[in-house]
Amino acid sequence: MLKFQNYIDGEWHDAADTVDVRDPANGELLGSVADGGAAGAEAAVAAASAAFPAWSRCTAGERATVLKRWYQLIVDNSDDLALILSLEQGKPVAEAKGEILYGASFIEWFAEECRRAYGQTIPTHNAAMRLNTIRQPVGVVSCITPWNFPNAMITRKAGPALAAGCTVVIKPALETPLSALALCQLAEEAGLPKGTINVVIGSDAAGIGKVLTQDPRVAKFTFTGSTAVGKLLMSQCASTVKKMSMELGGNAPFIVFDDADMDTAISACMATKFRNAGQVCVATNRIYVHESVHDEFVEKLRAQVAGLKIGHATEAGVTMGPMIYRRAVDRVQELVQDAVAAGAKIEIGGEQLANGENYFAPTVLTGVMDTMRIAQEEIFGPLAAVQKFSDEDEVIRRANETPYGLAAYVMSENIRRANRVVEALDYGMIACNTGVFSTAVAPFGGVKESGIGREGGVEGMAEFYETKYACFGV
Ligand code: ADP
Repeated sequence: MLKFQNYIDGEWHDAADTVDVRDPANGELLGSVADGGAAGAEAAVAAASAAFPAWSRCTAGERATVLKRWYQLIVDNSDDLALILSLEQGKPVAEAKGEILYGASFIEWFAEECRRAYGQTIPTHNAAMRLNTIRQPVGVVSCITPWNFPNAMITRKAGPALAAGCTVVIKPALETPLSALALCQLAEEAGLPKGTINVVIGSDAAGIGKVLTQDPRVAKFTFTGSTAVGKLLMSQCASTVKKMSMELGGNAPFIVFDDADMDTAISACMATKFRNAGQVCVATNRIYVHESVHDEFVEKLRAQVAGLKIGHATEAGVTMGPMIYRRAVDRVQELVQDAVAAGAKIEIGGEQLANGENYFAPTVLTGVMDTMRIAQEEIFGPLAAVQKFSDEDEVIRRANETPYGLAAYVMSENIRRANRVVEALDYGMIACNTGVFSTAVAPFGGVKESGIGREGGVEGMAEFYETKYACFGV
């Protein structure tokens, strides 16, 4: 499954240039991948466009059969896929395996869901007319995905798009192309017709991005990445009025009330803060702990953090790997320095590790304030930034004081309070008494500047259909 060429129109393509893919743990070269560039993106769009009529006219059952084969091949090869993912991305192999199975679940679920693309017969407003709707695939879908989930961010888009009858062109992140190409190899084995799925790798993200957001043959653009890049790509999509789905940045509050179960709160916090070394869009960013349980929470969190085993993704027992690249480490270091300079205290960690240049120690900071950069920016690293609060209204107000609105976490054993707070938080997803909530069967997405649209669930399927209204005179 290790592929180093671009996958366009069912064929593996070389390019004039190549880009190196390296293990973020030690800089070791994993391979050099063909740099498809904007020309590759144009060829891929042409292929997807040519493949669309036949694929969209298949019955849902025919598409489901092929997609379920793809799903099964991913599950059957999940150990190898996990290893590829870990090597290029850095997360521990067990975590990577979890991503592969989670990623595969989107293909399975949408293969089943596409059989239920019902239209409607509408009670007419005029006795001489009959009204109905049909749902049809939007057309060619282009996708740009990030490096933090190199498998699942692709399947969450390609799964429902292909199930709906769309064809896809994917530009994965430059850091993690191998997971995307491995998926193409399995798609081919599963029998996805040529041109239905295409992957273009490129160092010229902006050039490829222009094709994927501006080519009139593309009907819909779907993106996961930073808010800044998302805004730029949205503006590019305006030129041809593309449909858009945007999964952008977050600034997740994690609220621990005085009536929380402390063990639940700690394990939820660990899961949402240190998984993938904190490089997760729904990762906890601001930890608000009620003043009466603050010290207990911090002590328990510190003990858990001290127990994390840092190292290479393939080492037994490792629970946290490196960050993706040096730039990310420097930024995290800067956030710590900024917070400490403004009065925050390092409880544990706070520095780079000797394991390699991309390693940063899992860190707990207390005395954090909402005015600090660490509370205002998406941290995207293994820093737990703890603040105190006194009452419910105050913490809701502070939690909502951000342009982001992706995920929020609420820890409370009081069901009335939990319900009140869930309703009052301006976020697309709220996890109550758990740190893990994302699944193929439920809608994932944000409000405010965290995005547009949903991935997963019936909402995630709807993103790839147009509703056509037909009115018949009788
Ligand atoms: P991250 O912080 O996850 O790297 P980015 O938004 O920078 O977030 O990257 C997400 C994806 O967007 C990656 O595939 C990256 O190559 C791509 N990307 C970055 N800048 C551009 C751009 N100007 N045009 C198109 N794609 C871009």
